[in-house]
Amino acid sequence: MKKLTIVVLVALLISAASYANHSWSTYHWARTTTSFNLTIINSTTSDWDVYVGQAVSDWSGSQSLNMIEDPISDDTSNKTRRRCNGPAGQVRICNLAYGQTGWLGIAGISIDTNGHITTGYTKLNDTYFSQFYYDTPEWKQSVTCQELGHNVGLGHQDEDFNNTSLLSCMDYQDPPFEYPNAHDIEQLDTIYGHTDMYDSYVTDDGAGGGGGGGGCNAPPGKGCNKGETPGHNGDIGWGISLGRRGQSETFMRIDPDGIRHIVHVTWAIGY
Ligand SMILES: [Zn+2]
Ligand SMILES: [Zn+2]
Repeated sequence: MKKLTIVVLVALLISAASYANHSWSTYHWARTTTSFNLTIINSTTSDWDVYVGQAVSDWSGSQSLNMIEDPISDDTSNKTRRRCNGPAGQVRICNLAYGQTGWLGIAGISIDTNGHITTGYTKLNDTYFSQFYYDTPEWKQSVTCQELGHNVGLGHQDEDFNNTSLLSCMDYQDPPFEYPNAHDIEQLDTIYGHTDMYDSYVTDDGAGGGGGGGGCNAPPGKGCNKGETPGHNGDIGWGISLGRRGQSETFMRIDPDGIRHIVHVTWAIGY
């Protein structure tokens, strides 16, 4: 009788463990301390500020990281928002009517040769968010939350739109859920449960441009994404697709010096 109980418990633990991991590969920022402040440069127009502020505060619920909205980030020029370059060591978030690109949101990160994130960006496509279907607080909050979650190394908890909601912005649902859940926060604490030999983030305002790019907004096969081979378009294309699952797809471009630029695309429904 006692033996049976033990067996059942072990089986439960294993299934819980395999369910539990939803990190985005092994991507994470390098830190020499157990907790770090990641600067989020808010280059969205004021109608998005409420969503950015909420997501920044939600993700700061983790023990291991605080997202700090850059207080002097007023650069909301069309040019800046079109490129949405993340400066070295920080993340930029932008909105714009990027056009009928097929994507609702994208999150880009650049990875150094040690596998650490060195910069990131999130783009929110107003071409779709201005349409009746997506022009809701739920969609806007959820995609903002999810893309910023990708910028710190989280993947999706689930990619089926039609099953029971996990009540997390990292779960595909329609209508979507706006906020992270406790499991997302736990996963962050797991991802950042070690320290590194150096910091790949920076907190000072003097951080220059020239981060990981983000200039390319075109759908695959068009414009800056015309080249099928990595590196074909030099600095701006998404590179090759690492695969699509449901409405999400990941692309990678590798620089000659080994720096990888990874783009996570959230396709609009129907694309
Ligand atoms: Zn590390
Ligand atoms: Zn996603």
